[in-house]
Amino acid sequence: MKITFLGTGTSTGVPAVVCDCPVCKSDDPRDKRFRSSVWLSFAGRSVLIDTTPDLRSQVLNNNIRRLDAILFTHAHADHIFGLDDIRRFCMLQKAAVPCYADPQCAADIRRVFSYALVENAHLQKSFCPLIDLHDIDEPFDLFGQTIQPIPLRHSAERILGYRLGGFAYCTDCSAIEPESLAGLRGLEVLVLGALRPRPHPAHFSIEQAVKVIEGLAPKRAFLTHLGHSVRHEQLSMELPEGIEVAHDGLSIDMDCPA
Ligand SMILES: [Zn+2]
Ligand SMILES: [Zn+2]
Ligand SMILES: [Zn+2]
Repeated sequence: MKITFLGTGTSTGVPAVVCDCPVCKSDDPRDKRFRSSVWLSFAGRSVLIDTTPDLRSQVLNNNIRRLDAILFTHAHADHIFGLDDIRRFCMLQKAAVPCYADPQCAADIRRVFSYALVENAHLQKSFCPLIDLHDIDEPFDLFGQTIQPIPLRHSAERILGYRLGGFAYCTDCSAIEPESLAGLRGLEVLVLGALRPRPHPAHFSIEQAVKVIEGLAPKRAFLTHLGHSVRHEQLSMELPEGIEVAHDGLSIDMDCPA
């Protein structure tokens, strides 16, 4: 399986609009962060986790040529508002894209993107995306790979992370319940959201994320969903061995037994 970080930034992206801070003005390309998502390639298939408002640029920058499925973590704008941009794939592939979300997130997507639902295809008059949306809460098979939803706390909300074999993607979390932590043991690669050094009600701070990672002890860990108080080079030097700062365009190859 190949994992590519399409975006590693918090909801504003980095640089943030109207900000002259040193990170927003940084010359280091790793300090430019689109909104957070990853692209997974396995079994000859192309799968996204989340469709950010930056999706079009992310697809072009990474030369993504087809799309076979989308997994959604939650329905905040920075994770779903690029969904309309999948319509080129729908047209070229002449098919709806299967999408997976927990019941709350699926309800929000049905409300916001009602025009894109395959069951409403007969109402479409122009060039629209088409999605076949499935509510999920239990592990399911996708192209021969078991996808395990991992419930996470995001402030008061319950959202999903996902585990595929030895890989897990958990963004936008402020707490992880013991049952979910149990589902994140024995990982090769863990991607975990961490906003900034200071605490935040909806996101792990860097220190909180490091503590979770040290408790789970994956072989490698990457921090994502970073804000503009994090300079890539500086944080990379400060993190313990085995914990890395993700950046847009970074790819990891790993074996991923189902
Ligand atoms: Zn977010
Ligand atoms: Zn800034
Ligand atoms: Zn969120």
